[in-house]
Amino acid sequence: MTRDARYDVLFDPVRIGPVTTKNRFYQVPHCNGMGYRDPTSHAAMRAIKAEGGWGVVCTEQVEIHPTGDIGPFIELRNWSDQDVPALARVAEAIHAHGALAGLQLAHNGMNAPNLTSREIPFGPADLPVFSVFNDPVQARAMDKADIRALRHWHRSAALRTKNAGYDLTYVYAGKLFGGAMFFLSRRFNQRTDEYGGSLENRCRLLKELLEDTKDAVGDTMAVACRISVDELMGEEGIHAAEAQDIVGHLAELPDLWDLTLSSWDNDSQTSRFADEAYQEPFVTGIKKLTTKPVVGVGRFTSPDTMVRMVRQGILDLIGAARPSIADPFLPKKIEDGRLEEIRECIGCNICVSGDHTMSPIRCTQNPAMGEEWRRGWHPERIRPRESEGRVLVVGAGPAGLEAAMMLGRRGYEVALAEATRDLGGRLVGERRLPGLSAWGRVVDYRVGRIADMADVEVYRESRLTAEDVLGFGFDHVAVATGARWRADGVGRRILRPLPVAEGAAVLTPDDLIAGRRPPAGPVVIFDDDHYYMGGVLAELLVREGRAVTLVTPTGEASSWMEMTMEQHKVQARLLELGVEIVPHRVLAAIGADAVDLACAYTGRVVHREAASVVLVTARLPEKGLADDLEARSDAFADAGLKSVTRIGDALAPGTIAAAVWAGRRYAEELDAPPRGLDDLPYRREVAELAAGPLPWRTPA
Ligand code: ADP
Ligand code: SF4
Repeated sequence: MTRDARYDVLFDPVRIGPVTTKNRFYQVPHCNGMGYRDPTSHAAMRAIKAEGGWGVVCTEQVEIHPTGDIGPFIELRNWSDQDVPALARVAEAIHAHGALAGLQLAHNGMNAPNLTSREIPFGPADLPVFSVFNDPVQARAMDKADIRALRHWHRSAALRTKNAGYDLTYVYAGKLFGGAMFFLSRRFNQRTDEYGGSLENRCRLLKELLEDTKDAVGDTMAVACRISVDELMGEEGIHAAEAQDIVGHLAELPDLWDLTLSSWDNDSQTSRFADEAYQEPFVTGIKKLTTKPVVGVGRFTSPDTMVRMVRQGILDLIGAARPSIADPFLPKKIEDGRLEEIRECIGCNICVSGDHTMSPIRCTQNPAMGEEWRRGWHPERIRPRESEGRVLVVGAGPAGLEAAMMLGRRGYEVALAEATRDLGGRLVGERRLPGLSAWGRVVDYRVGRIADMADVEVYRESRLTAEDVLGFGFDHVAVATGARWRADGVGRRILRPLPVAEGAAVLTPDDLIAGRRPPAGPVVIFDDDHYYMGGVLAELLVREGRAVTLVTPTGEASSWMEMTMEQHKVQARLLELGVEIVPHRVLAAIGADAVDLACAYTGRVVHREAASVVLVTARLPEKGLADDLEARSDAFADAGLKSVTRIGDALAPGTIAAAVWAGRRYAEELDAPPRGLDDLPYRREVAELAAGPLPWRTPA
């Protein structure tokens, strides 16, 4: 197949200073939780993006010096020549597939608590650091010697970047990560010297860093400038008009303008809170201020939207972090005219949670993300089957769909049996909950791919028993029968079933998703799960006109959603809708028209009126079929059955991302050589031990 001529413009080369990108697909810098700790995993992940057709592939922000140490978060480092081999490996991996390699230099300034280095952070003013954990660390105001030192370190890091083989580098002044942004900002920069006050003065440090970098490496490398065009906080923060003044002032100095919103949670908004191209109003008009190319993001997955961005003169390059994570082959699929194969980002920010939990990046849509080197998974390819085996997958939720699709891709004959009429498992209902419709893409992509596979048969309305399974004569059975929410309150804080008075109305998320509703009167939702479900159900019920109280043992609604950068948005939405949020309380008992709530600190109990209670605590695996099969294991040999494996929520309930990953793992490992108990499940890199004298070996 060939691409639709409508999309030709996306494949135009674009000159960026001394280099030229082969097309307009630009993977902007994004964190990945691998950084300096997992350099080869990181390199392999970027290589796959390049293989998938991105014209430019960038690293995440890369620390340039211990005074800008963003730990505990794990990014690449470019502190000294010791770091160059790891940086060079990433550039080499990107080049292997013909993309330009970009490295985002970053001194985090007063965003960096310097927990590893213990250096004193610095910025424009004497102020507490602006870090994720509100660390008890203050930055000091930079003097002229500090500014000279910072310029020197930035220049040195740029030269090392060149030595490592990169084509493009950055001066970073965006998202409150790039330290120079604190100088741009009126609220942080209250200096009275030539680096504070007027816009020209506040731009001075950024201008000097750009000039230094151009001077050091600009003969062969492009130098991009990344700024935030709006902080979404009105006049208090950097806003659109001011950003235009900044671009106007520095217009031709960088080779490329990379535009973001600030802070990161505004830049990477989830589908629950923003649609594709949500940044358009903020970046429109910037291109008129400069002749240099402009890149911007907006969770672009639709080639038509991308074309519109270019045709309307809003952007020159289509920037993407999450769409390139969900589908590293997005450009190639557009180029080949395979639009229906695009695995669209669902905007859930599970990828971001990897960085925030300091663990390797993961993705709900792309289970191979982060596994490219350590497990050898590829987002598009999988090794051919190794036997004639026929596989039955029971349950068409995220785990079952992924397993069936990837087994089909391996060439196995697969039957996918689903009890209900609809495919998608938990997502059949969850995609209809407020704000979650884009999550249905997990189902649509897989159902679409499976429909094209001759060897994968789908059987709807087929609730299977052990008897059925044994009668079919399959070689392998994957039991992906999912999980159901508990109705007894057991979860994190409550480990024994709650006392429930006779006549009390107790519902679970499954009840609400199935359309059941509590009786009239105030509803208490007890959320000991802390991910999206409690908050989403509160939103559902309050929008239906119910009086809703959300009770949580933590300090805030949906507290784990700090990891997806949504918590404060969820809390704000619930408060605006009139949901009462009761923090630090544990459900102690459920009466017919009231609940007992115990203080999470003192245990003191208070009564509260409640006509019904919704328990969002934990789920139980649906393992009836697996247990029944296990009980009949002596009949396996006669039935020709070689293996029965529980996967996804049926093994242990988790995120949708975990279920998809489990489906992929099943497909990857079927017929793989058995692993010994002492064999690790994946490859890893171990830090090289230092050479040289060791103090305890040296006589005093
Ligand atoms: P996961 O997230 O692990 O994929 P889900 O709960 O989303 O799990 O999906 C499980 C699916 O399995 C549901 O669609 C459910 O209807 C189906 N299912 C459960 N038991 C059976 C069974 N015995 N036969 C066929 N399908 C089943
Ligand atoms: Fe998109 Fe979610 Fe994947 Fe991130 S984890 S790239 S938001 S689908």
